[in-house]
Amino acid sequence: NIILVDETEVYEEMRPFISMIKKQHMDILNHAQMRQEFTANVSHELKTPLTAISGYAELIASGMTGGEDTAHFANEIHKSAERLQALINDIIKLSELDDSDLKLEFETVDLHDLGEQCIHSMQMQADKNEVTLHLEGASVPMSGNKTLLEELLFNLCSNAVRYNKKGGSVTIVTTIENTRPVLIVKDTGIGIPKEQQERVFERFYRVDKSRSKSTGGTGLGLAIVKHIVAQHDAQMTLTSEVGVGTEIKIVF
Ligand code: ADP
Repeated sequence: NIILVDETEVYEEMRPFISMIKKQHMDILNHAQMRQEFTANVSHELKTPLTAISGYAELIASGMTGGEDTAHFANEIHKSAERLQALINDIIKLSELDDSDLKLEFETVDLHDLGEQCIHSMQMQADKNEVTLHLEGASVPMSGNKTLLEELLFNLCSNAVRYNKKGGSVTIVTTIENTRPVLIVKDTGIGIPKEQQERVFERFYRVDKSRSKSTGGTGLGLAIVKHIVAQHDAQMTLTSEVGVGTEIKIVF
């Protein structure tokens, strides 16, 4: 059958498809640009500690440094090696989470138990920063990937401790709202300026680069959190006020 249609009519009908194709094209371009930026950032981030390691090792090898200097340089090499290790670990985690074929194993996990476990593992760092850790709420069993949920909670708590103030506190709350499991991590720390709140989930984005680095941050923690939240079909909201504190709420 041959159906004759008015050309302008065809164009009208095609409009939604044309705009869909245009949008897909823009998405591909944005994705390519993001990948390019990520690669550039990765090389930069990896080069910094590597340059330090190679420089200090060269100084020691020259035989011109004395006892105390040598110990100091060796310590710098150690710190840079640890930084490199943290970066590589996070980059691997992100690339695993990026894999669209990723099949996650889900099991029943109790958010409250994970909170307890997290507080236990963060205790030493919290003591060092003079920050107190608290757990509120009740048992919340839910279906999730245990390893990833542990990682998510650890990243959020680690941030809440590192971007805190002396004498500050971190509270993990596990609860159920409208039958949905809820996890809240809140702190009385330095807060995040309004205009940067959306950007902190981008890879390598930091509000204060020097503080992030000196406390062992890779700039990838919240990007990993965002991926884990998506893998669990959950919603995340961030509320923060400079000088008052930050709260991240995840509704599963
Ligand atoms: P980092 O390794 O630098 O901590 P993240 O991806 O975990 O990287 O966080 C990105 C940035 O967001 C941090 O560098 C910091 O500036 C800011 N940030 C994250 N969590 C908090 C928080 N609880 N309080 C204040 N600032 C935060």
